[in-house]
Amino acid sequence: KDASVPIESLDQLSKTSMPLCMRMCHDHIRSQHHIKHGGRMQYGLFLKGIGVSLEDSLRFWREEFTKKMDVDKFARSYEYNIHHNYGKKGSMVNYTPYSCMKIIKEMAAPGDCHGCPYKSLDPPTVKAKLAAYGLSPGAIEEVMFFVTRGHYQFACGKYFMLTHNSNVEPTINHPNSYFEESQILMG
Ligand code: SF4
Repeated sequence: KDASVPIESLDQLSKTSMPLCMRMCHDHIRSQHHIKHGGRMQYGLFLKGIGVSLEDSLRFWREEFTKKMDVDKFARSYEYNIHHNYGKKGSMVNYTPYSCMKIIKEMAAPGDCHGCPYKSLDPPTVKAKLAAYGLSPGAIEEVMFFVTRGHYQFACGKYFMLTHNSNVEPTINHPNSYFEESQILMG
C-alpha cells in the first residue's frame, strides 16, 4: 500500500473514518501525550495499515510523547518499537494490524484506552462517548441495542451506518477495513 496518509490529516480522519477503538486511541494520545504499550501496538499498526509511512509515524509519536519527556528518552524507549512494527528492526517480521477479533478478545484492559470500547467500557461510558461524538439519543440507542447484547461488531457496523448516512450496515471484522469502507464512501 502506498504510504500516502500524512499525519497532518489524522485529526480529521479520526473523526470521519476511524472506528471508535482507534478514534479513542487518537484522542487519548492528543490529550495525554502518551499511551501504554497495548495502545501503541493497536493504534500504531492501524496507522501503518492505513498508509502512514515509518517516517511520519516516528514524527507523530515523537511530537506527542516529547511534550512530556525529552527527545533522548523517547529515542531510547520508543523508537525501536516503531521501527519494529514496520519490520525494520529485530525479527524483521512485518507486523499486521490487529483484527476486531484480536482487539475484542486480547486487548481488553479496564481503565485503558485500547481494546474494543464497546466491550471494554461500561455501557453508560459508551453512551457518553457516542453523545460526545455527536450521535443523537435515538442513534445512541440503536448502537446500544447491540452493545448490551454483546454484539460489539454489529454495534460498530451500526455506528458506521449512522456516521456515514449509509443504508447498508457493513460487516466489521477489521478496523482497517472499516477505514477503507469509509474512505470509499467519502469519495
Ligand atoms: Fe474497533 Fe472492531 Fe471494536 Fe469496531 S468492532 S471498535 S473496529 S475493535
